[in-house]
Amino acid sequence: MSLGEAIATARRARGLTQEELAECLNVTQAALSRYENDLRDPTEEALSEIASALGVVPELLNRADRMEGALAVGAHMRRRATAKPTVWRRLEAQLNLYRLHALRLFDEIGLRTDLSIPALDPLEYNPSSAARILRMQWRMPSGPIHNLCNWMEAAGCLIVDTDFGTSRVDGLSQWSGAHPVIMLNASAPTDRRRLTLAHELGHLCLHSQDISDDVEADATEFAAEFLMPAETIRPQLRNLSLGRLHDLKRLWGVSMQALIERSHQLGLLSPRERTNFYKRFSSQGWRTREPLSDELAQEKPRLAAEIGQALIARGLTDSEAAIICGFSPDNPDNPFLSDASRLRLV
Ligand SMILES: [Zn+2]
Repeated sequence: MSLGEAIATARRARGLTQEELAECLNVTQAALSRYENDLRDPTEEALSEIASALGVVPELLNRADRMEGALAVGAHMRRRATAKPTVWRRLEAQLNLYRLHALRLFDEIGLRTDLSIPALDPLEYNPSSAARILRMQWRMPSGPIHNLCNWMEAAGCLIVDTDFGTSRVDGLSQWSGAHPVIMLNASAPTDRRRLTLAHELGHLCLHSQDISDDVEADATEFAAEFLMPAETIRPQLRNLSLGRLHDLKRLWGVSMQALIERSHQLGLLSPRERTNFYKRFSSQGWRTREPLSDELAQEKPRLAAEIGQALIARGLTDSEAAIICGFSPDNPDNPFLSDASRLRLV
């Protein structure tokens, strides 16, 4: 990523137009546009003002070129077709900016993890076998996965909970050097967030380079087998009733609709039975808001906050710790040092 691309990315991540940022910097839009298009390099002083207006340190922008092909490889995003481009483009810019922060940070501090995410060749492994291999590599128990967020953080995934301001985007992910960065919609119900995490995990294992549209079905298949392994769940999905779906949702931490789909995929539910369930769900308004989701144990990412805490524990001041993460000390949107993340650790 060039310096110009980094400036434009940080600006979009903050939801600012060129005009708005130019005004706040007291320069013309044309001048800013030249910086963003790499037609002119800002002076040291100008760069420091740009960075400060965007809540980051100048080195974050200046050394963005170390992120190889970053923008050539876009983000995987779980979103509905109706999501507004202005919204998802801002989210994509935010993810790319977090990737820069992660790159800078993991240069400074080595992150040793117990687990890792393998790159599996999709030509060699179908999504379901990839999911089984990963479960085996991580030595996961065969049943339901408790706290998927924890597992993924143990493998070095930096998960950032964000209020997306829309329910039409669930999450997005991409590698940043050796570690993946995932943004997750903080306002989605737990079962949906878990499905999104498993879906993104599928992309990270199978599609580190490929971001074409036809990988979506693969990530969805991966998520289904990862969260609901056929071998274990099959006997439990026979003769589904509403009561049974409730019990299974509590047990497996996935939506009833995901269970219905799984049952159908495994040939245990006829198309007619599936349609009947969905008709009932629609009439109750459950297609958009299922019951029981609030009862599932919440899964909150902790890794970013733990890294922030570790920096402070090393004797750094808050400002020094913020700068290592690439944020201006006064930027309140720093997931490594936010008040919310500190409280969460208590
Ligand atoms: Zn996807």
